[in-house]
Amino acid sequence: MKETTKEIYEKLLSRFGNASCELNFKNNFELIISVVLSARCTDKRVNIITKKLFLKYPTAQDLAQADQEDVEKMIFSCGFYKNKAKNIILLSKDIVTRFDGEVPSDYEDLISLSGVGRKTANVVTSVGFSLPAIAVDTHVFRVANRLGIAKAKTPLESEKILQREVDKDKWGRFHSLCVLFGRYVCKSRNPKCEECDFQHMCKYYKDLEKKGKK
Ligand code: SF4
Repeated sequence: MKETTKEIYEKLLSRFGNASCELNFKNNFELIISVVLSARCTDKRVNIITKKLFLKYPTAQDLAQADQEDVEKMIFSCGFYKNKAKNIILLSKDIVTRFDGEVPSDYEDLISLSGVGRKTANVVTSVGFSLPAIAVDTHVFRVANRLGIAKAKTPLESEKILQREVDKDKWGRFHSLCVLFGRYVCKSRNPKCEECDFQHMCKYYKDLEKKGKK
């Protein structure tokens, strides 16, 4: 790991300590459904929704047989509810018919499930199965670009660079730290640069300074 990446990792670690996923889940089925629902939605909102959803549909078998309109009503407040309802039902059907009702641990199997993209597959690999994976969500993508760790145009490009830049045994933790840093400090709009340790290495901050906005 380069010295600057190491410095960033160590500082994030001392600030956010044992960062972990902020979604509530009891098993990998609940995790994968929660991650799908979290697209363009806050974890806080997803946790409110899933509390009732998993009471009514606790397993992949239950959700696979659910009425789509009922699911739409239950997840309405997380946005894109029609697509998400369709996807989590299809995803549950896939888990039941192809994997005996168990969420698979293999990355290629995960990504083959309906509605599961790279980010979701990586989060489940890392958080659910404790295997090395770097999920690049909107926070990781932004933070890695601003700090210059991964200057990338797409999440996939960012993921490939981060896999080279960050030690493999730290991939999962690095993701969680960047998510918290992006969520609470390096926000998309109005980042809290005044309370950030990385001003000296942040191009975004330097550009804001030049424009007289900091
Ligand atoms: S200085 Fe501001 S923009 Fe740069 S990493 Fe810190 S919070 Fe983000």
